Amino acid sequence: MKVFVNKTKIIATFGPACSDVSVMEQMVSAGVDVFRFNMSHGTHADHLDGFKKVREMNKAHDLNIAILADLQGPKIRIGLVRDNMEVLEKGQFVEITNIECVSTFKKLFINYQNLPKEVEPGDSILIDDGKIQLQVVETNRKDSIKAKVIIGGKISNNKGVNLPDTKTTVPALTEKDHKDLKFAIKNGANWIALSFVRSPKDVLELKEIIGKKNSYMKVMAKIEKPEALIELDEIIRVADGIMIARGDLAVEVPQERMPLIQKDIILRSLKYAKPVVVATQMMDSMIENANPTRAEITDVANAVIDGADAVMLSGETSMGKYPVRVIQIMEKILTNIEHANLIYNKEQKATSSDTFISDAICYNAARMSSDLGAKAIIGMTFSGYTGFMLSSFRPKADIYIFTENEDLLNSLSLCWGVRAFHYDKFVGTDTSVRDVIRILKGNDLIKKGDLVVNIGSMPLSNRGRANMVKVTKVE
Ligand code: PGA
Ligand code: MN
Repeated sequence: MKVFVNKTKIIATFGPACSDVSVMEQMVSAGVDVFRFNMSHGTHADHLDGFKKVREMNKAHDLNIAILADLQGPKIRIGLVRDNMEVLEKGQFVEITNIECVSTFKKLFINYQNLPKEVEPGDSILIDDGKIQLQVVETNRKDSIKAKVIIGGKISNNKGVNLPDTKTTVPALTEKDHKDLKFAIKNGANWIALSFVRSPKDVLELKEIIGKKNSYMKVMAKIEKPEALIELDEIIRVADGIMIARGDLAVEVPQERMPLIQKDIILRSLKYAKPVVVATQMMDSMIENANPTRAEITDVANAVIDGADAVMLSGETSMGKYPVRVIQIMEKILTNIEHANLIYNKEQKATSSDTFISDAICYNAARMSSDLGAKAIIGMTFSGYTGFMLSSFRPKADIYIFTENEDLLNSLSLCWGVRAFHYDKFVGTDTSVRDVIRILKGNDLIKKGDLVVNIGSMPLSNRGRANMVKVTKVE
């Protein structure tokens, strides 16, 4: 079963609710293209079990489901809370310390050593996705902060802390991230996401480690800090993909700014031909309910209209009651939008790049496919560049990428509209054009009479960037 359901890709987070192979298979049949492994939860043994299941499915059914490992990054947290439940009352004062202790409503431990040094009076300290808001009154710049409770509520063990006003000096990769990264490389993850990226340097640091290990793993920068918005273009340029991590983003920036930020990040990612994921709370109510809310249906649809490559599910599939049904419903929303014409043929591009020849080839192949009403655009690539670039123009024609690079077969699964096939014969352009058309015909993806646009590199043996476009009527 090569299940090609939608052009917009679906990323499902792995977890106890979907760790059964039969559930995963149903999710894939319904349209899942990528499984995400959230390194913030679970053990390496749990994740390894999931990695293996994805690989077995790929092998058994000739699929290219990708594995995305998501690093926790420098997430700041509170520690243990007395009886796992304390209440902070609006208006009260609370001491915050960096010396580990069991937290109470009077004294709260936060696991970031430099916090007393880096906060200023007036800064917000948010707990549990911003549900609780504290304001710094004073700090001794060493181990104790006095804060006032602005919005009160219950706190429990290990809840996350956000510091939207404070410029922190936490490292981009924590000790835990280094261990998780090693695990992901060793076990062949196709993508790695980095949480709380603040600057292009963070992404480059991660890429350097990956490069040294001779891994092809692609790097996704999660945009969820205000600092990242300042250097957004440069972050997009150095990353292989972008995630709009709305969970933390809407806590770190004023939440009402999020919808326009989402649209802006998507447009810029398209400009640089980098796949972009919209994440968090897309179908949140389906963790409990059999149907999404009207607002959720509209949110998923709007993400596609904005131009997202992929939409992501978190708790909905990892711990929700309806891990298969949520995919089925999402798939129907995607299909409906994809039948409308408004999402196709995007043209905005970054100018004066050193790849302008192959960019022009991809752009014109996409345009030509639209003018001719072609059924498919077929590319060959080793680096994947052609796949990413073709996808960014959002042609209505299907995009089929042939590559000898096994890693790429899976990593391309995250890109809008792209389906990849293995191909390793590099005899000559005519032969390979004939070969790939035959393979697609054999898979019932094109038929006699269809027009297809091939792009490639001549001579083929140089494995260079695309420099050729050819139109063929399928025999
Ligand atoms: P997380 O990332 O689930 O790892 O926090 C996504 C988000 O913040 O939206
Ligand atoms: Mn996050």
